[in-house]
Amino acid sequence: MELNQEAILKAGKIAQQVRAYSKTLVKPGVLLLEIAEKIEAKIEELGGKPAFPVNLSMNEIAAHSTPTYNDVQTAKGLLKVDFGVHIDGWVADTAETFNLDTNPLHQKLIDTAKEALKQALTNITPTTPLGSIGKKVNDTATHAGFQPIHNLSGHSITQHDLHAGLTIPNYDTGQSQPIGEGLCAIEPFMTSGVGRVREGRPSTIYSIAKEGNVRDPLAREILAFIEAHYRTLPFCARWLYKKFGTRALLALQRLEQAGILYQYPQLIEESGAPVAQAEHTILITKTKTIITTG
Ligand code: MN
Ligand code: MN
Repeated sequence: MELNQEAILKAGKIAQQVRAYSKTLVKPGVLLLEIAEKIEAKIEELGGKPAFPVNLSMNEIAAHSTPTYNDVQTAKGLLKVDFGVHIDGWVADTAETFNLDTNPLHQKLIDTAKEALKQALTNITPTTPLGSIGKKVNDTATHAGFQPIHNLSGHSITQHDLHAGLTIPNYDTGQSQPIGEGLCAIEPFMTSGVGRVREGRPSTIYSIAKEGNVRDPLAREILAFIEAHYRTLPFCARWLYKKFGTRALLALQRLEQAGILYQYPQLIEESGAPVAQAEHTILITKTKTIITTG
């Protein structure tokens, strides 16, 4: 598929501005709901759309946590802020981790995740083997006395498709397969635990799993809205609650039961240890590799 380089770079530029903005916003004690909504509003204000709900995952929750519409949790601990911007379906996906207490282990996890990302991003060309990127992440982890999360990985991105098929590992898989040209997100996760995640509670983040029809008029109306506004990108109950009120929650339940929607589970470090993440999106071309989000 032809890449829309202009849209890709514009989404990346907006993501850079939103990252800077998020640093002014993420403070201990601030409502997670306020952080998520302000980040999503800033993305729109700058001319983009959220590519997925802002993920605010705390401590041992590695990913797939977004505030509910009536969330009362406040920011604390080791907080990962992972958000995406899209322009016409072309996504910039980026994350960083905030240390909201004085725990030195948390800071070391953050520094190691950032260093692993920096190492992984060094000298990427279309011929770079996937295994060698994972090796850099793993080497950085073990040097610091940590583990990468083995069953979380980076991913290729195509238009309206956040996880487009290619997996970019966070450990040495031995794969000689080259990364190739195109758009990719690289995202090392670091932990002091065993280095795997398990599925936790439902996240209220969904995406369309398969085409299908429902008889229920309410579910039908909500599905039409989802198809028109989010297409195949993830969305959350909070967004639909804002538009349709509590009846959206019932419709989501029906659509999930019918197998039309998939609800992502939260992903939790298996041993309950804290997790830090760092992520950038890159555009790999024959002649150069651009970090669109950094
Ligand atoms: Mn991300
Ligand atoms: Mn990603």
